[in-house]
Amino acid sequence: MAQATTGRHFLAIPGPTVIPDRVLRAMNTPMVNIYEGPLIEMTKSLLPDLKMVAGTAGEAVIYIANGHGAWEGALANVIAPGDEVLVLESGRFAVGWGAQAAQMGAVVHTLDAPPRAGVDPAAVEAQLREDTGHKIKAILVVQVDTATGVWNDIQAIRKAIDAVGHPALYMVDCIACLGCVPFEMDEWGVDVMVAACQKGLMTPPGIGFNFIGEKAMAVRKAQGCRSAYWDWEPRVNPEMYYRIFCGTAPVQHIFGLREALDMMMEEGMESIFARHARLAGAVRAAVAHWGQGGPIGFNIAEDAARSDAVTTITTGDIDAAALRRICEDELCVTLGLGIGMDANSVFRIGHMGHVNEPMILGTLGAVELALSKMGASFERGGVEAAVAALG
Ligand SMILES: *Cc1c(COP(=O)(O)O)cnc(C)c1O
Repeated sequence: MAQATTGRHFLAIPGPTVIPDRVLRAMNTPMVNIYEGPLIEMTKSLLPDLKMVAGTAGEAVIYIANGHGAWEGALANVIAPGDEVLVLESGRFAVGWGAQAAQMGAVVHTLDAPPRAGVDPAAVEAQLREDTGHKIKAILVVQVDTATGVWNDIQAIRKAIDAVGHPALYMVDCIACLGCVPFEMDEWGVDVMVAACQKGLMTPPGIGFNFIGEKAMAVRKAQGCRSAYWDWEPRVNPEMYYRIFCGTAPVQHIFGLREALDMMMEEGMESIFARHARLAGAVRAAVAHWGQGGPIGFNIAEDAARSDAVTTITTGDIDAAALRRICEDELCVTLGLGIGMDANSVFRIGHMGHVNEPMILGTLGAVELALSKMGASFERGGVEAAVAALG
């Protein structure tokens, strides 16, 4: 990556996201004792704040792992070989989670979302209605799919499950959007939620989370867990505190996450969600403007289903790879590449975590300038449209 010689290079990929200087400073510390003393108190202090962010009075465990690790942790506790799992596909990530379940021996069924849209609750209801024997043990879905940019209505899907009275565990991946958009685990009837620290939680990659409701914990208790590392039980009820990480604590990550959560508490969750909605609205205003009469458009058709954490933009015959290269090499902004889609005709703008108006307007300005340098077919004035959306 070309580095800015003046000013800052902005990483506008949808995770890992910009690390606040406060978090970097908090992590820049000598090593401490992990067995007793202040680190234990700090670790204990993380759990209530994480649960508040997740909207749960249930249990929370912290894994030294990325999102894929946290996925596997959740599966290892409730899925046994031969169990049936329903994956609600809406892009890349629920499918990846389902593939892990398959590798662990589960029988995986997949329900595809309609093209350019999120999970259809009515289709979920219809599919579950066919499962008269209640064979499906768990339903896997993402709240925001980082590839397609879709936001799934987790409450509406819960209602579809309840309409059938289906007892499956409802398991939701909030890795892309925890701390960006509202999520209420208990109120919305979610049994397991999976998250990681490097997106909305503004901490360098390396720790992931499982939030666990009573029903999921009861399943774990009833069937045991074949993995000593992923097992929730000793982490939730540790004989000694060292066991909550199944070994050495991720010391500097604890300092970093503590600082990031402090920043979130200072801003307040409602303000955080409002900021993400505002900035996402500015991005969408620019994209809609650029697309008038040209090939640029949204990957997700309905405005209400576009996420406030990441926007996936289709560019038709405009070379998105060249666009990203100009932005990165000449204009100090790294855009996200299309994943699971043609990288030459898709790019993504991450607007999650430690972002503000100048970062987003600067990114949109850089994209507009790059499009102009390329001689691309687009409607100028997207940045003005973004400013108007903010003002
Ligand atoms: C980033 C992401 C993941 C994967 O997380 P890793 O930390 O890269 O393993 C999974 N699901 C969603 C929705 C994501 O955004």
